[in-house]
Amino acid sequence: MITRMAILNRLQTKSILLSFDMQLNGNCGLCGATLEDRDHLFFGCRFFRNVCGSVLQLCGWVDGIGVFSIGLLLSFDGQYIC
Ligand SMILES: [Zn+2]
Repeated sequence: MITRMAILNRLQTKSILLSFDMQLNGNCGLCGATLEDRDHLFFGCRFFRNVCGSVLQLCGWVDGIGVFSIGLLLSFDGQYIC
């Protein structure tokens, strides 16, 4: 379900909430570096990448160069999409 919402860009990120004129700080809640949107959370957020990398490493799911693949990330809900 989360995978589908992420692909469709329907996650309730701060960028989406700001598009509904909500008054809030749009910076990423994890790293605070920039606007929190889907692309930042899954591909640009250093904090998220470090946490996911650590979890995947503990699970033994890290690829050969120490970087997790989007296929592994998308498998968290039990289904491989790509
Ligand atoms: Zn961030």
